[in-house]
Amino acid sequence: ADLFAPERRNSEGFDLSHAPTLHRIEDARAPFRTATWSAGPLIAGAAAPEREEPVTNPADSADRPGTVAAASTADIATALEAAQIWQAPASDRAAVLNRAADLYEAHFGEVFAILAREAGKSLPDCVAELREAVDFLRYYAANIPSGDPAGVFTCISPWNFPLAIFTGQIAAALATGNAVLAKPAEQTPLIAHLAVRLMHEAGVPASALQLLPGDGRVGAALTADARIKGVAFTGSTETALKIRASMAEHMEPGTPLIAETGGLNAMIVDSTALPEQAVQAVVESAFQSAGQRCSALRCLYLQEDIADDVLRMLAGAMDALSLGIPWLQSTDVGPVIDAEAQAGIRSHIDIARHEGRVLKELPAPQGGTFIAPTLIRIDGIADLEREIFGPVLHVARFRAGDLDRVIDAINATGYGLTFGLHTRIDDRVQHVTERVHAGNIYVNRNQIGAIVGSQPFGGEVLSGTGPKAGGPNYMPRFCTPDRQGADS
Ligand code: GLU
Repeated sequence: ADLFAPERRNSEGFDLSHAPTLHRIEDARAPFRTATWSAGPLIAGAAAPEREEPVTNPADSADRPGTVAAASTADIATALEAAQIWQAPASDRAAVLNRAADLYEAHFGEVFAILAREAGKSLPDCVAELREAVDFLRYYAANIPSGDPAGVFTCISPWNFPLAIFTGQIAAALATGNAVLAKPAEQTPLIAHLAVRLMHEAGVPASALQLLPGDGRVGAALTADARIKGVAFTGSTETALKIRASMAEHMEPGTPLIAETGGLNAMIVDSTALPEQAVQAVVESAFQSAGQRCSALRCLYLQEDIADDVLRMLAGAMDALSLGIPWLQSTDVGPVIDAEAQAGIRSHIDIARHEGRVLKELPAPQGGTFIAPTLIRIDGIADLEREIFGPVLHVARFRAGDLDRVIDAINATGYGLTFGLHTRIDDRVQHVTERVHAGNIYVNRNQIGAIVGSQPFGGEVLSGTGPKAGGPNYMPRFCTPDRQGADS
């Protein structure tokens, strides 16, 4: 299908520079400022969930946006028994998914409220997340390949895009006619519960889409059963490897695992780069969403000649960031997802501080699991032992003659998700982008925020098994192997 076909357009979203639009958003989400939600299994049969646990607000330890009851072992068994592929013709499935997109948009006030209070999302991130979710629904609805469904699919999604990635996996699996068992991240069951209710309301049969909230035990059960014919997973590389091992042990050989995992993403800024542009791109790539994107910039390489100037400007730009409650329109950087994440990032910063490598650190607000944007000096990307999933940027310097060594070091991490380059030398763009192994390469702009349909998103090697989400090769992987890619 033509990616730019007139029958499908990406969502317009909301223009946050337009005062009447802001008022409309305020009015729509105001009723949900203190509302509470409860999430639990949504299965085609009687549920016997485990006892309710509180859902926390990462920005405000006094706020309890709701409760969640995890799926019990009996619920998982019932759901597996009840799961039925979606028999409707492709055009009907597409119509239902389009209706779901409309319902998501109609509920924007509630969606934004849950995303802010459960996942700590700033308003611009809420807007972007809803847009991406509806874009996935409409893109997959408009591009259904001709293959047969694989059968029952497990979809395991992360808390950092608890609506967009959750919806994208499910929409691709449903568009191709599969039955879905959806396991949302433990931290974000409320938005998942709303999303599934809206998809059911749009017309997705209860037996084709079931929700099984819970922790890793639920995910483990849903990746260890021969009745499951495929798994879509977004999360850590470590968990992806465990899933692969479990699938090899319990499932038919060849069962597809569509995994999108971590990264150690770099950006190179050379001495010809436009400094203002580079600084803006660095701030967005490293600190937007509190650095909790797998696409986020982790290691900035500055050419020595301009490093001091760029760092001075960067420090100034960081001072202008406002940290705090995501509900406020003025907030640029919200909290990290929970206390465990906060502790892990803090210990990384503490070690760097002890070694005298912290170049810049902002004060962190109290009352929630905040980590303030921080700059840490390193010698090169090889110094990073793991992905630090928060607003922490590592900075290294390089000399002009060392460019190829820098590229080798970036490739040697074994990850390959995003990469950024700022330069005004055309030949260098060619040279560097040909050599760096990364799924998504961005030149002279930020390196986050891939757009459904025009910038399919996904990595290489340790960063994922491809194919890219929001692109033409994604859905065929949800069809039976013999018909995969049988695009008419
Ligand atoms: N698609 C997102 C982006 O381009 C990142 C997704 C993720 O963090 O898993 O920024």
